[in-house]
Amino acid sequence: MDFNFSEEQNMLRRTVRSFVDKEIMPYIAEWDRKGQFDPAIIKRLADLGLMGVCIPEEYGGSGMDYNSLAIVCEELERGDTAFRTAVSVHTGLNSMTLLQWGTEEQKQKYLVPQAKGDKVGAYGLTEPGAGSDVASLQSTAVEDGDHYILNGSKAWISLCDTADHFLVFAYTDKEIRHKGISAFIVERDWEGFDSKATKGKLGIRSGNTGEIFFDNIKVPKENLLGEEGEGFKIAMAALDNGRFTVAAGAVGQIRACLEASVNYANERETFGKPIGKHQLVQQMIANMKAGLEMSSLLVYRAGELKNEGKRNTEETSMAKWQACDFANKAADDAVQVHGAYGYSDEYPVERYLRNSKAPVIYEGTREVHTLMQAGYALGYREDKPLNKMLPAWEGNKTKV
Ligand SMILES: Cc1cc2nc3c(=O)[nH]c(=O)nc-3n(C[C@H](O)[C@H](O)[C@H](O)COP(=O)(O)OP(=O)(O)OC[C@H]3O[C@@H](n4cnc5c(N)ncnc54)[C@H](O)[C@@H]3O)c2cc1C
Repeated sequence: MDFNFSEEQNMLRRTVRSFVDKEIMPYIAEWDRKGQFDPAIIKRLADLGLMGVCIPEEYGGSGMDYNSLAIVCEELERGDTAFRTAVSVHTGLNSMTLLQWGTEEQKQKYLVPQAKGDKVGAYGLTEPGAGSDVASLQSTAVEDGDHYILNGSKAWISLCDTADHFLVFAYTDKEIRHKGISAFIVERDWEGFDSKATKGKLGIRSGNTGEIFFDNIKVPKENLLGEEGEGFKIAMAALDNGRFTVAAGAVGQIRACLEASVNYANERETFGKPIGKHQLVQQMIANMKAGLEMSSLLVYRAGELKNEGKRNTEETSMAKWQACDFANKAADDAVQVHGAYGYSDEYPVERYLRNSKAPVIYEGTREVHTLMQAGYALGYREDKPLNKMLPAWEGNKTKV
């Protein structure tokens, strides 16, 4: 595997970094304090071509490889988890799923405007009573002529008030449990759709998360994604891509914690020397550095497997689990390095700590990934290629 970045990828990183420095960093503390989500940021991301980085040019994207998506996520999360989450659900969970499973008509109608950033996509799997245990979801889609009638609700949906298109999962046949779940593309403008943001979140306060409701929505049959009964498989395949973006974002979060802690440790003095000279502070900083390097390698390995068109559920799960745990620990330590100042929003590290918790919960909790990895180690789980794989990346990398 080759972990050298191309000149194009280095340029992409510089572009996102400079966008974050200019258009997020100066305002984020205030947005976070007010719980303010600014949809204009999504428009700016679209202007920079960041809403479809790894989607082929023929479908409106930038045609870059999957590790380029990781670079975007890393750099955005250095600014704030909210903006990386937006890219995770729009590109990772929705657009890449359309690329993998959509018909040509679905790709033209939904993927192309999403990849260009003209429309925003989101992903609705979780329900009030169904998170890790997906098969306990309650939403139903009942066949009715050339439509399905969709009823139910989803909880904790990122971009609930912002997205134009939602990829949602509902039972078409409840008797056969997860084999009776189907996937649908649902438009916000359809009659019977509603959404409501959730207030009082611990973190990602400048993001938009909440409920979506389906009240007898008429979903045309051509909006069924894949075959009837393939929904569970599609939902899990989508998570292989969403988790990748979450893991990449966690790398950016660790880097932000390390940068903030190094700066502070070189400035703040106790007992006549900078706190960076104290071994116990060095230990926290060394752990952040180790977490950064290990997480990066896990993420880029998963990205390379995607580039090669290989199944990567195991490697992506490992990257997501470890990178998010490292980020959560790095954020905790970053607050510790800052002492009482880390406890106030004068410094960004308390926001990093609050933001670092959701990624340990969403897209497979820490416990779910632990069980998955134990399953692989014990020989209880084995992944075979799916009937429709994410396309391998066909571009050429220019070596630096
Ligand atoms: C900010 C945010 C944004 C989100 N965005 C989205 C989104 O865009 N789309 C979407 O569909 N969902 C989204 N989610 C929901 C998220 O994916 C779920 O919260 C997650 O899957 C966990 O489900 P749950 O909250 O119902 O927890 P539960 O599944 O009820 O789990 C509760 C606890 O029990 C543990 N547990 C459960 N089962 C087991 C087991 N078998 N063994 C051991 N431990 C177990 C869990 O690990 C956890 O610690 C979001 C969540 C948050 C916080």
